[in-house]
Amino acid sequence: MYRTHSCGELNITNVSQEVTLSGWIQKSRDLGGMTFIDLRDRYGITQLVFNMDTNADLCQKARKLGREFVLKISGIVTERESKNAKISTGDIEIIVSEIKILNASKTPPFTIENDTDGGEEIRMKYRYLDLRRNPLKENLMLRNKVGFEVRSYLHGIDFMEVETPYLIKSTPEGARDFVVPSRMNPGTFYALPQSPQTFKQLLMISGYDRYYQLVKCFRDEDLRADRQPEFTQIDCEMSFVEQDDILNTFEGMTKHLFKKIKNVEMSGFPRIKYDDAMRLYGSDKPDIRFGMQFVELNELAQNKGFNVFDSAELVIGICAPGLATYSRKQLDKLVKFVQKPQIGAKGLVYVKYNEDGSFKSSVDKFYSQEDLKAWADKMEAKPGDLMLVLSGDTAHTQNALNVLRLEMGDRLELRDKNTYAPLWVIDFPLLEWNEDSKRYHAMHHPFTAPKPEEMHLLESEPGKVHANAYDLVINGVEIGGGSIRIFDKDIQAQMFKHLGFTDEEAQEQFGFLMEAFEYGAPPHGGIALGFDRLVAMFGGSDSIRDYIAFPKNNSGQDIMISSPSAIADAQLEELFLEVKNIQ
Ligand code: ASP
Repeated sequence: MYRTHSCGELNITNVSQEVTLSGWIQKSRDLGGMTFIDLRDRYGITQLVFNMDTNADLCQKARKLGREFVLKISGIVTERESKNAKISTGDIEIIVSEIKILNASKTPPFTIENDTDGGEEIRMKYRYLDLRRNPLKENLMLRNKVGFEVRSYLHGIDFMEVETPYLIKSTPEGARDFVVPSRMNPGTFYALPQSPQTFKQLLMISGYDRYYQLVKCFRDEDLRADRQPEFTQIDCEMSFVEQDDILNTFEGMTKHLFKKIKNVEMSGFPRIKYDDAMRLYGSDKPDIRFGMQFVELNELAQNKGFNVFDSAELVIGICAPGLATYSRKQLDKLVKFVQKPQIGAKGLVYVKYNEDGSFKSSVDKFYSQEDLKAWADKMEAKPGDLMLVLSGDTAHTQNALNVLRLEMGDRLELRDKNTYAPLWVIDFPLLEWNEDSKRYHAMHHPFTAPKPEEMHLLESEPGKVHANAYDLVINGVEIGGGSIRIFDKDIQAQMFKHLGFTDEEAQEQFGFLMEAFEYGAPPHGGIALGFDRLVAMFGGSDSIRDYIAFPKNNSGQDIMISSPSAIADAQLEELFLEVKNIQ
């Protein structure tokens, strides 16, 4: 028998018991007559003692053991003299009578402590050692708990988990596919799913009216901190539902998770139309932990001789409370900030609303005190506030002011990590015009239904139609998105046409779905939530990588197993593949 207890289990009630434990040596301390070893497993750490006076042989043996050796020990639980209140086993220690070395260990390439000396690269190469450290272990335990709570909630309301295949054919979710050559079907390829979208819709046609799956999805995109080439979604679909039913169901699930995981009672989930989100926050994933909404100033600011504003499509501002005290230097820095290429504003107009009621702005030449008072009134600014105004074409200006708003929110410490502000962004545009390809792209995906009241515009003015689509956003992070689906063959065919598919192409790629629509497809809709992102949010981090056991690095590689890698010529041949001229 390897163990009677785990290393996190024993306490004062176990004193005098004879126990057996197995685990890894966290560290050992040699204090002359006594040697102490901390033995670790997943559950905790237990202190082992060896006494030179009472058992010299064993003590000598213990002294020779290095970090991370795997031991099995037996001994008697005793009360400690100096207790350690920080750990659950801190009141006791084991007086060891027997040691068995189950395995030796090389000295690990970095210290396996909460704060390690190992750099990112070496820890990725030895991920299995990094996973022994508490911070990562806690992240994976959190992930496990969130997954369990998701399943428990959905199971409780009749959702059924169904697995869908990984070797499929391309689903147009907007990213590049990962492909897998088929040996048995020469010259053809599977694609790994970007999501199980078409399968979950087919399951609705099969009658499984509440489906979910914690499922891997694969997208060959450029990576960022919150992206991985393979990631996990909580993928769901429901039949006989309208948008409200889905929003209410997943609001319920989100509340359940926040209660169970963070003990936070989430109250309202406001619903904001996409057009309003863009107008008020310049973003389709607004952080509404703080206000500072955009205020349009076209009417007040144009035709006063300031050419920059006169020639702009949009003049918008935000009011940063209490920042009229900013110095010239601080303001210059802010101007530089918005001019960074990633943000790309040409300039920034600022107006200080001084405590004495006067205004000082960077455009005093063009605007009188009364003019600026009118801006302040419209922006509901108070003496002591700083108004920041950008102008230009609508899309760029909204985007730049969004970045500035978030920056000011950070500076004013309005983005508290422990406050959660969820919302639904609804009524997205159905289609998006793409200048490069000179055609419409689906804003969500091609299976999303138009809003019924705008259906009549689908033929004549498709660009004006809004979709029955929604995103769940928490603290400025898109946690999930979905839509009510098209379930009529003709409307689906019309969508494909708008997206530039010929009838043959649509038939070739999605004939199976359109045919399925002819066999009693129920009205349906669904959503997918980013599981990794949700877990990272619960953990208070932006980086999903720390919540995945074996993630890829920024170049999409797993340096531990050296993947991706070249394959043998014989394997290539078998797959009818040839690798050409790779530098
Ligand atoms: N398949 C969609 C996605 O992965 C989600 C959905 O529409 O249910 O974003």
